[in-house]
Amino acid sequence: MCRWCNRPVIFAPVMKYLERELRNSGRVEPLSYYQAHWTRDGAPLLDELGAVIDHIEAFSAGGAHSMENFATACNKCNGQKSAMPIAEWNKRFQRKPVKGKNGEPQHWDGLSTLFFLFAERDRNGLTAWERDWLKALGGMRADRS
Ligand SMILES: [Zn+2]
Repeated sequence: MCRWCNRPVIFAPVMKYLERELRNSGRVEPLSYYQAHWTRDGAPLLDELGAVIDHIEAFSAGGAHSMENFATACNKCNGQKSAMPIAEWNKRFQRKPVKGKNGEPQHWDGLSTLFFLFAERDRNGLTAWERDWLKALGGMRADRS
């Protein structure tokens, strides 16, 4: 979930593998599930809800590159917040936070489990960054069981 607007975020690599899966099944029409730069025209879902690791206090403004200063955010909030100090961001908050009428999601994983399944099937096709994520997610799965 986005720390700032409370919207569910999506782990971007899963969209890449989902699009690949559909292409491999014979789909030829444009899908716009994944595009490397997450632009609205090429990947509208990621443009809005792609998960990013945001620095609570901007790294460019001296914020630490550490777990205590990291927050999960949606791509939209991250772009709006940019390097704004957290105090100013809290005052000028632009995107109205979502609040669930029937409660908040308790188990949303950003589709990362789906990424894990796709990645396990195609380990040789993973980028180094995706391999790191697979390792991290594998660790998370091991911790849960
Ligand atoms: Zn957000």
